[in-house]
Amino acid sequence: MSECLFCKIVEKKIPVKLVQEDEHTVAFDDINPQAPVHTLVIPKRHVSAVQDVGMEDESLLAQLLLSCTKVAALKGLRESGYRLVTNTGRDAGQTVFHLHFHVMGGRPMAWPPG
Ligand code: AMP
Ligand code: ZN
Repeated sequence: MSECLFCKIVEKKIPVKLVQEDEHTVAFDDINPQAPVHTLVIPKRHVSAVQDVGMEDESLLAQLLLSCTKVAALKGLRESGYRLVTNTGRDAGQTVFHLHFHVMGGRPMAWPPG
């Protein structure tokens, strides 16, 4: 069995608030939301971070971004706007080393981020 937290979520071994799922991606609400809408979009296949997706797998990035825009629409964020974030490595504060996009919205977002 995988030791990766998000792989366990893909395998449905850890319960989540599922937002949507398709052949290649899963979206679920963040357990510790930092905005009124805070949903994570992940690939079903384990990839550690965005920099580990190679050119041979470019369709995976497209699928993830399309899933993010679908989540934003489902959550009613199309008009108000939203932020997509993928923390990569130590300086960005990545804590789960299974690629994920944060879809965040429902409040104004400061820029630049901390
Ligand atoms: P990052 O810091 O970019 O690696 O983001 C990891 C995110 O995963 C954080 O926002 C956590 O709150 C979230 N998280 C950790 N465990 C869970 C879980 N079991 N279900 C949902 N979200 C989680
Ligand atoms: Zn994983």
